[in-house]
Amino acid sequence: MRLRVGLLGIGKIARDQHIPSLRANPSFELVACASRNVTVDGVQNFTDLEAMLAAVPDLHCISICTPPQAHFDAALTSLRAGKHVMLEKPPAATTRQIALLADEAARLGRTLFQTWHSRFAAGVDAARDYLRTRQLVSGKISWKEDVHHWHPGQRWIWEPGGFGVFDPGINALSLLTEILPRDVCVEAALLEFPENQQSPIAANVRMRTEDGVAISAEFDFRQKGEQSWDIELTTTTGTLKLAGGGAECTIDGKAVTRDASMAGEYPRLYQRFASLCEAGKSEVDWRPFQLVADAFLIGERRIVAPHEI
Ligand code: NAP
Repeated sequence: MRLRVGLLGIGKIARDQHIPSLRANPSFELVACASRNVTVDGVQNFTDLEAMLAAVPDLHCISICTPPQAHFDAALTSLRAGKHVMLEKPPAATTRQIALLADEAARLGRTLFQTWHSRFAAGVDAARDYLRTRQLVSGKISWKEDVHHWHPGQRWIWEPGGFGVFDPGINALSLLTEILPRDVCVEAALLEFPENQQSPIAANVRMRTEDGVAISAEFDFRQKGEQSWDIELTTTTGTLKLAGGGAECTIDGKAVTRDASMAGEYPRLYQRFASLCEAGKSEVDWRPFQLVADAFLIGERRIVAPHEI
């Protein structure tokens, strides 16, 4: 049986990844979309979630692609309407919200797939396998992109709950927590806030694994020229580099995998969603979100030059 899906929040990621991946996957049928300002060809269109749920009661799943500030209400409403839910990253605006959603999905016997798309990038399995038997010495994350190029006009990123530079940065933390055999926590952070915005434009975060290995992270939205979405982990027997947001895995300078595009991530995400729905299971891991929240809690704040969106 094909899972009938309603998609909520038709913006960049819905158009670039969710719609093509759903249409290419025989496990799903994209039946309806809900968005305040946009419609999608070939499906029923609504301006909000409630109207979609009322008019198309036989949907099995809702896939939520709105900004994080809108995730909690949409996911709760969908679960309580009896739907399985797939949720874009970052999972919610506050850490309690995602915990409550996980509890509610379990109580109602629905699937909640709280996604981290970067974990489905091509280099991740090789990186995890390599690190499983190695002793880590140090780690460095460099996540630097030009916000004007990648997030043009996205006002929500700068609003409270919009994560600022941690909107892409949380992808690095989702990779780190996926590939490291040990847990990590935040020790210190420095967050730079433009004087006219509510969210950070840059952050330095110092972390430590549970056995004391230092990992530093630099996140910056002001990067011009070459962009970097890289994690470098030095072990006693070699160095692993996961570049291109997880797509390229290199060990001691030798390429192990390379798939420079995001091409496979979302098709694999939807495959996982289909198997979770079939098995009646949920997948929720809010550790990357806790690391970001902890950076906000413990971080020093510096006010920097204004940023025009
Ligand atoms: P976007 O282009 O701004 O699209 C989000 C859409 O959600 C908007 O166009 C808007 O459509 C709708 N929406 C509903 N409530 C909203 C609200 N309160 N504020 C603003 N828009 C609202 O954003 P996006 O880049 O697709 O990102 C959406 C989510 O996917 C984010 O959580 C982001 O982190 C994640 N994501 C993005 C990318 C990427 O490359 N862009 C990659 C992976 C994950 P209507 O006005 O029509 O309702």
